[in-house]
Amino acid sequence: MTEHSAEQSQPWHHLSADEVVARLKSHGNDGLPEDEAGRRLDRYGPNRLPQPKKRGPLRRFLAQFHNLLIYILIVTAVISALLDHWVDTYVILIVVLINAVIGFVQEGKAEKALEAIREMLAPNASVIRDGVRRTLPAEELVPGDVVLLEPGDKIPADLRILRSKNLQAQEAILTGESVPVEKSPPAVGQTAVIGDRRSMGYSGTLVSAGQGVGVVVATAAGTEIGRISGLLAEVETTTTPLLVKMDRFSRWLSAAIIVLTAVVFVYGVRVQEQDVNTMFMTVVGLVVSAIPEGLPAILTVTLAIGVQRMAGRKAIIRRLPAVETLGSVTVICSDKTGTLTRNEMTVRSVATAHGLFEVTGVGYDPHGGFNRDGREIEPAEYPNLIEVLRAAALCNDSALRQLGDAWTVEGDPMEGALLTAALKAGLDYRVESKRLPRTDVIPFDAEHRFMATLHHDHEGHGFIWVKGAPERILDMCAEQQAADGTAPLDRREWQRRVDAIASAGQRVLAVASMKTAATHRQLEFDQVGEGLLLLGLLGLQDPPREEAISAIGQCRSAGIRVKMITGDHAATALAIARQLRLDNCEEAQTGQTLDVLAPEAWTETADRVDVFARTTPEHKLRLVEALQAKGHVVAMTGDGVNDAPALKRADVGVAMGRNGTEAAKEASEMVLADDNFASIGKAVREGRTVYDNLKKAILFLLPVNGGESMSIVASLIAGLTLPITPLQILWVNMVSSVALAMALAFEPAEPNVMRRPPRPPDEPILSGLLVWRVAVVSGLFVAGVFGIFYLAQTQGSSVEEARTYAVNTLVALETFYLFNVRHLGATALSWKGLLANRAAWIAVFLVFVLQAIFTYAPFMERFFDTRPVDFVHGAEIFGIGLALFLILEMEKAFRLAFQRRRKRRDTGRARRSE
Ligand code: ADP
Ligand code: MG
Repeated sequence: MTEHSAEQSQPWHHLSADEVVARLKSHGNDGLPEDEAGRRLDRYGPNRLPQPKKRGPLRRFLAQFHNLLIYILIVTAVISALLDHWVDTYVILIVVLINAVIGFVQEGKAEKALEAIREMLAPNASVIRDGVRRTLPAEELVPGDVVLLEPGDKIPADLRILRSKNLQAQEAILTGESVPVEKSPPAVGQTAVIGDRRSMGYSGTLVSAGQGVGVVVATAAGTEIGRISGLLAEVETTTTPLLVKMDRFSRWLSAAIIVLTAVVFVYGVRVQEQDVNTMFMTVVGLVVSAIPEGLPAILTVTLAIGVQRMAGRKAIIRRLPAVETLGSVTVICSDKTGTLTRNEMTVRSVATAHGLFEVTGVGYDPHGGFNRDGREIEPAEYPNLIEVLRAAALCNDSALRQLGDAWTVEGDPMEGALLTAALKAGLDYRVESKRLPRTDVIPFDAEHRFMATLHHDHEGHGFIWVKGAPERILDMCAEQQAADGTAPLDRREWQRRVDAIASAGQRVLAVASMKTAATHRQLEFDQVGEGLLLLGLLGLQDPPREEAISAIGQCRSAGIRVKMITGDHAATALAIARQLRLDNCEEAQTGQTLDVLAPEAWTETADRVDVFARTTPEHKLRLVEALQAKGHVVAMTGDGVNDAPALKRADVGVAMGRNGTEAAKEASEMVLADDNFASIGKAVREGRTVYDNLKKAILFLLPVNGGESMSIVASLIAGLTLPITPLQILWVNMVSSVALAMALAFEPAEPNVMRRPPRPPDEPILSGLLVWRVAVVSGLFVAGVFGIFYLAQTQGSSVEEARTYAVNTLVALETFYLFNVRHLGATALSWKGLLANRAAWIAVFLVFVLQAIFTYAPFMERFFDTRPVDFVHGAEIFGIGLALFLILEMEKAFRLAFQRRRKRRDTGRARRSE
C-alpha cells in the first residue's frame, strides 16, 4: 500500500524550508542516500501518474461501426434479409464484423505504438543523492529527493523550493494562468491557493527561467496534478491530413453510391421492367462492390508501420500529421552544436597574455599537455594559463565521470571539456571547488550568452568568474591580464585573436574575473556588466558528424535546403559549414546584421543565406516565418526553452531527445532520439515513403472496386447475367484485396525517393493522371472479367463455372496489378523491382492458397456457388492477368520515355537560352 495521502495533508507551502527537509528526513544539500531512496521507492511506489481512463473495449469496438459506409452495408444486409437472401445477409454482416475487428485490433496496435513512443519520451530528473548529482528517470523519484531545476525542465514531482535564482514556472496546466510565476523558498500563508503558493513547484508544470533546487514532497497520484489527473490525458490524434481526406472521400462515395443505386434501381424497374426483388439484389451487389471495405484498415496499418519504422531510425513522431508533412519539407533549419557536429568537445587552444598554447590529448580523458611554439611546456610555470583554466573549471556546472578507461561528461559537453583541460594542467575541479566554494550563479542562457559564478575562499575573499561568447565578454572588460600585472584592454588585438581561433572552426570562449567583497552574497546581472579583467580565450574543437555531411548531400538531391542556425561565432560557423558542404558557405548573417534588416529584406535573406550565427531563439522564430512567407515548408530543430515558439511555428518542429528540454519536446512534432541531423534526413525519407505507400494502397484498391461496380452496371444496362455475384464480390474485397494491399504497407522506399523534389503540401492524393489511371485500369478489369465470363459460356461452360473463372480472373488481375502499382515511377520489370518486397510475394502466395480453397473446397462451393477450374481456364486466367501487367508496364514505359524526352528538351532549351 502506498502512502501518498499521509504526506499530502501537510501544508508544505506554509512550513519553512528547513522544517520541510526535517519532516521528510531528507539531508538538505546532500539529498537522500541511495539505499534510503530505494526503500522509499518500495514504500511509495514509482512516480508515475495512474493511466488516464481509456475507452472500454466494448465502447471502442462499437465505435468501429460508426461509419456511413458501414451503415449502408447494414442496410443492404437488412434488404437481403427481407428478400429472404439470408446467405447474403450473413456474409455482409460477417464483412461488417470483420471490418470492425480489424479496425479494433489496428486501433489497439496504433495506440500501443503511441504508448511505447510516449514511454521513450519519459522525462528524466536531475537529483542529488549521496551528495552527487545524478540524472535518473523521473519515475524513480521519492519524497525527500533533492531535485535540481533548470529552464525548460518539466517539474517531475511536487516540490518544496529550497533555493532559487530568478526561478519561474509556467503553471497553466494547473491554474490556467499562462504568465510564469516567480518561485522562491519563503513560506506562504496556510490558506494560499495553488496559484499563490510561490514556495512550491508542481509536477507537470514547466520551468520557464532561472534555476532552483527543491525537495520532493509528493509523487505520483499524491501530486496536485495526480489528483486532477484525467485532465492531463494528452489527446494524441490517430489521424493525419490524408486520413481526414479519405474520410471526406468516403462520405462523398457514400452519397455517390446512394444516388447511383437509386438511379440503377429506377432504371431497372421502370425501363427494363425487371422484377423488383431481382433489382434489390442487384443494388445490394452494386453497393458491396463500390465500397472499398478494406481501405480504412490498410491505411491505418500503413501509417502505423511508417511511424514504427521512423522510431527505428531514431525519429520519434509525437503528432501523426507530421508523417505526411515531412514529405513536403523544403528547408531544414538545424542547430549546429550536437546536431551537425558531434558535441564531443575538446579544448584545443588557450590564448593568454603569454601567447597561444596548444592543448594535446583526445576526448575527455585528462591525459595530455600543453605546447607552445611546438614545444611541450610545464603549465605550472605559466600562472596566467592556470588562471584561465581555473576560471573555466569553476564557472562550470558539469562533472566528469570515469568508467574504466572511458571518460564521460555529466552535463554540458563543452563545460566537461573545460574540466578536462584544467586537469591536464594539474588543476582538479573538485579540489578547487572545495577551496573556493560557489556562493551564487547567473546560469548560461542562449539569450545573453555568458555564465557567471560568485565564489568565496575560506578567508572570506570574494571572486567572480565569467565565461561566455567573446564579443559579450569583451564588452564587459576594462582591463586585461598581462604578463606581469594588469593592463588596459586592447580590444582590437583580442578580437584579432578571436577571429584567428574561430576561422580554424573552433568555438571560442572568453573568460574574465573580478574581485569582490566578502559580504557579496547575491550575484546580479548589472554587477558583471562592466569592469571585468579579461583572463584569456579558449578554443574548442567540435568536429562535424560524418553522417551529417552525407545526409546534407542527400537532402540537396531531394530538393531540400539545409540551413545552420547557431549561437556560435560567425567565423566558426562558416568554417564548420564548409566542412559540412552547405550550399552557401560564403556568407553568414549574424543576429546583429539581422536585427538591422528591413522587414521586407528578411524573406529574401532567409532564403539566400545558409549560415546564421550569433542568433537568439527569437531570430529562429522570425527566420521560420520569413521562410514560410517565401512558400517554404520548414523543419526547425531546437532544444532550449526559448526555442518553443519557433518549434511550434515550424511545419515540423524537431526537438532534441537527449539534450533537449521538456519544453522543446512538448512544442515539437518530432523528437530525435540521438540528436543527430542524419536522423532528420532519414525521417524525411520515411515520410515520403509512407505517403507513397498510402497512395499506392489507394491506387491499388480503387480500380478493383471500380471494375466490380462497372461490371454490375454494364451487365444491367446490357441486360446480361451478372458475371460475379455480390457474395463473391465480398470475398474479393474482404479477403483477396486486403491480403494483397497489406503488402503495400511494407513496400520499401522507391529508389528515387530522395532524388525528387518535395511534394507540394496541397497536392491532391489523386491528381488528374491518377484518376485517369484508375478509370483505365477499372475499364481493363471489366474487359478481362466480362471477356472470360462470356468466352467460357460460348464455349459451353455453365454460368456457375463462368462466374468462378470471372472471380479468379479478377483476383489474378489485381495480383498482377499489385506489381504495377508498387513502382509508380519506375519499371516493375527488373529482378530487383520484382523481388524487393518480400511481403508482396507472401501476399501473392497467400492469395493463391485462398483462391484455391475458394475454388476447390466443397464447403466454399456450397457457400459461394463455385466450380473447380480446369487447367486450360486456369492458364487463360493467368494469361489475362499477365496481359494486363504488360499493357500497364508498356504504358508506363511510354510515359517515362515521354517525360524524359520532355525534360531533356526543357534542359536543352534552358541551356540554349543561357
Ligand atoms: P549553439 O547554437 O552552437 O548551440 P549556443 O547558443 O549554445 O550555440 O552558444 C552560443 C555561444 O554561447 C557559444 O559560442 C559560447 O561562446 C557561449 N556559450 C555556450 N555555452 C556556454 C556556457 N555553458 N557557458 C558560457 N558560455 C557559453
Ligand atoms: Mg547550444
